[in-house]
Amino acid sequence: MIKQFETISSLQKHLDANREQGKTIGFVPTMGALHDGHLQLIRKAKKENDIVICSIFVNPAQFNNAADLEKYPRSLSTDMALLDKESCDCVFTPSVIEMYPNGNKLLSFDLKGLDTVMEGVFRPGHFAGMITVVHHLFEIVNPHRAYFGEKDFQQLAIVKYMVKQLDKSVEVIGCPTVRELDGLAMSSRNIHLTPIEREHASLIYKTLIACADKKSTHTPEALYQWVKSEIEQTGIFKLEYVAFVNADTLQDLNNWNDANLQRACIAVITSKTRLIDNVEL
Ligand code: AMP
Repeated sequence: MIKQFETISSLQKHLDANREQGKTIGFVPTMGALHDGHLQLIRKAKKENDIVICSIFVNPAQFNNAADLEKYPRSLSTDMALLDKESCDCVFTPSVIEMYPNGNKLLSFDLKGLDTVMEGVFRPGHFAGMITVVHHLFEIVNPHRAYFGEKDFQQLAIVKYMVKQLDKSVEVIGCPTVRELDGLAMSSRNIHLTPIEREHASLIYKTLIACADKKSTHTPEALYQWVKSEIEQTGIFKLEYVAFVNADTLQDLNNWNDANLQRACIAVITSKTRLIDNVEL
């Protein structure tokens, strides 16, 4: 039966006892409303560690929009049942006061431009809030390994960079994006799609994967225009951005020879939410 901890001290007591027995700890931080994308991270963590802890905390510090925070889906009892089914050992569900007893004092850290592109442009302050909570959670849990989805590619790059710069002992492991059968990346926000938006939402992934083929005939700039017209031709989505970037620095490619590892990252606006996705190019 999964153990639930709401306080830092009770969680640490439990983890310390496991560490003393030489057990390795795998950690999966989430904001809940769990789906198969999250559960794949749990499954991988189970395979690679003696015990697995999942945190569920809707972090106010990383929402730059109060309405988005308000409507973020919350489903703790279903989440607990899903985690229990995966034999996840424990779940940490702290309150906002437990995490931020002195208010949201943000971690100030130079992310060398990784945070000022793509999501950083459209969600100002998001990454400062995200690294604040991830750093705090790493201090609390002190895991051997932590698992993050490639679905949030920029977040994964930033967490890896932070861990390297701060010389933290945790190993950060990126896991492939889990998709619905039609290719739509699983996301807690997909429930906000209207039936017609959901019907067309696979267009996002289809357009991204087509970019790999179009590289031979399009410059990055021309490909941007092609993606925009594909996404917007339905009349139901609006392109917020598509960026073709160096997968290590996240900086825009001016031409296709600029980097060996390349990523296409996209954000699309729907009537009630925004969806992000990315693929290797
Ligand atoms: P969230 O609850 O949205 O903060 O996500 C928690 C973790 O699950 C993050 O590391 C996400 O990147 C990861 N994640 C979310 N959706 C997916 C997905 N479709 N496939 C793989 N990982 C995902």
